[in-house]
Amino acid sequence: MNAPSTPAQLAAIGHHINGRKTSGEGARVMPVFNPALGVPVAQVALASVEEVNSAVAAADAAFPAWAETAPLKRARIFFKFKELLETHHEALAALITREHGKVLSDARGEVVRGIEVVEFATGIPHLLRGEFTDQISSGIDAWSMRQPLGVCAGVTPFNFPVMVPMWMFPMAIACGNTFVLKPSERDPSPSLMLADLLQEAGLPKGVFNVVQGDKVAVDALLHHPKVAGLSFVGSTPIAQYIYETGAKMGKRVQALGGAKNHLVVMPDADLDQAVDALIGAAYGSAGERCMAISVAVAVGSVADQLVERLAPRVRALKVLDGTDAAAEMGPVVTAQHRQRILDYIEHGSSQGARLVVDGRGLSVPGREAGFFLGGTLFDHVTPEMKIYREEIFGPVLCIVRVPDFKAAVELINAHEFGNGVSLFTQDGATAREFARHIQVGMVGINVPIPVPMAFHSFGGWKKSLFGDQHAYGMEGVRFYTRYKAVMQRWGNSIGKGAEFVMPTAK
Ligand code: NAD
Repeated sequence: MNAPSTPAQLAAIGHHINGRKTSGEGARVMPVFNPALGVPVAQVALASVEEVNSAVAAADAAFPAWAETAPLKRARIFFKFKELLETHHEALAALITREHGKVLSDARGEVVRGIEVVEFATGIPHLLRGEFTDQISSGIDAWSMRQPLGVCAGVTPFNFPVMVPMWMFPMAIACGNTFVLKPSERDPSPSLMLADLLQEAGLPKGVFNVVQGDKVAVDALLHHPKVAGLSFVGSTPIAQYIYETGAKMGKRVQALGGAKNHLVVMPDADLDQAVDALIGAAYGSAGERCMAISVAVAVGSVADQLVERLAPRVRALKVLDGTDAAAEMGPVVTAQHRQRILDYIEHGSSQGARLVVDGRGLSVPGREAGFFLGGTLFDHVTPEMKIYREEIFGPVLCIVRVPDFKAAVELINAHEFGNGVSLFTQDGATAREFARHIQVGMVGINVPIPVPMAFHSFGGWKKSLFGDQHAYGMEGVRFYTRYKAVMQRWGNSIGKGAEFVMPTAK
C-alpha cells in the first residue's frame, strides 16, 4: 500500500447538513491517520459554532414534519436502511479498519452490532404504544403516551465509529426526534457513509445531520437552546463535564464514560474457557473497547496456573495490519495514545508489578511506522497501583491475586468504574450471588464480554455512566421520549358547576 505523501493528496472529510455534504475545507482541519501505516490518509474539517448552529437549525426545521410522520412509516425507512447497511457491510467495515485500525473481522462484527439496534428500532410502532385505562373515574378515560423531545445530539468516541452512533440515532429518530451527530475526529468517515445510506433509505433531509469537530462543536451543541437531549459516549472526565453542563442548560443527558472491567476466575472454573475468554477480551481490538477486560482477578490457588497458561498465548498474539486476514490484533489509534500506554507499562514496572510479557518494542514488518504495541501481561498487580486504578485502553492485562470470592467482590465493588464484569465458575450458587451483589451495570457469567443485545440496554454504574437511562433497548425509548398522561371526559358525564375540592375517583 502506498501512503499519500503530501497533504494535497489527502481526501477532505466534511459535514453532512440538511441533506448536503460540505467540502471539508475550512479554517480548522486536522489529519486523520491510518494507524497501521502511521501516516495521514485524510483531513477532517473541525466545525465552527456557525456550522453547528446550521446543523441544529436544519434538524429543528425538520422536526415538526418528522414528529408527525406515523411510526410505521418511520419504521419502514429503517427496514430499508437495514437492507442498505447489509449491502454496504464490507465497505463500512473497511472504512472502520482504515481509520481506527481494528482487524477487519472485528470491524464487521461492529457493524452487525449496530444493525441489531436498527432491527430493534423497526419495532417502534409497537414500542411506542401507550397505556389506556377505561373509566378511570365516572365518564373519564385516561391514557399515557410517549412523545419525542425535539432535536437530539450524539457525541461519540473513536473506538466504535459505527456501532456507538447506532446505539443512539436509530432509536432517537424512530421515536420521532431529529438528530445531530458529532463523531470522533479520529475516525470521522463512517458517519458520513451512514448519513448517505439514511438518505438513500428515504429519510427526509435535516432529520439526520453530521458535524465533524472537536470541543468547539461539542460545546456549541451543549449550549444550543434547541438541543433538547444529548447522548455522549467517551472517557469519564468528558462524560462528567457533558452531563453537568448539559443538565445546567436544562437538557436531558445520558453520558457513558470509561471503564476498568474485571474477569474473576474461580478455582473451579474451566481454565481453558477462562484463558480463551481473557485473551479475546483483553487483547481484541488492542484493548480499545469500553467492555475490554483489563483485570483478571485470580481467586485462591488458580493464579499460578492462569499466568502459566496466559503468558505463551499473549506472546503468540498475531499483531498485524488489520486488513491482514491473519491479524488478531491491529495497532492502537494514534501515536499519542500508544505513548500513553507505554507510560502506563513503565509505571506498572516501577510500582512493583511483575511484567510477565512486555509488548514494548514490537515492530510489524512492512508497517514500521504504524502505531503497534504487543500484548502486555502484568502479574501481582495491587489495588493502589496506577495501572489498576486507571483505564489504560490498550492491550495490557493486569492480574490481581485475591484469597477468596468475598475478596474478589469487595475489590470490584470498591473500584470507581462499574461498566462490565465477568465471572468464570462451575458453581451456580456462586454465580447467582455474584450477579446479585456486584456493583456493576453489565455482568457476564462464563461470558467474556457481556455487551447486552439490542433488546436489552447498555450502560454501566458508578463513574461509567452519568444520567438515569442506559443506551438503546427500552431505555433508549425512555430517554428519547417524554411521557405524557391524558384524561378525557365527553358528553353527558361532564359535571355541573365548579368543584373546589381535589378531584378523586367517582
Ligand atoms: P474522548 O472522551 O476523548 O472523546 C469522546 C468524544 O468527546 C469525541 O467525540 C471527542 O471529540 C469529544 N471530546 C473530547 N474532548 C472533549 C472536551 N474537552 N470537551 C468536549 N468534547 C470533547 O474518548 P475517546 O478517546 O474517543 O474514546 C475512548 C473512551 O471512551 C474510553 O474512556 C472508553 O472507555 C470510552 N467508551 C465508553 C463506552 C461506554 O459505553 N461506556 C463505549 C465506548 C467508549
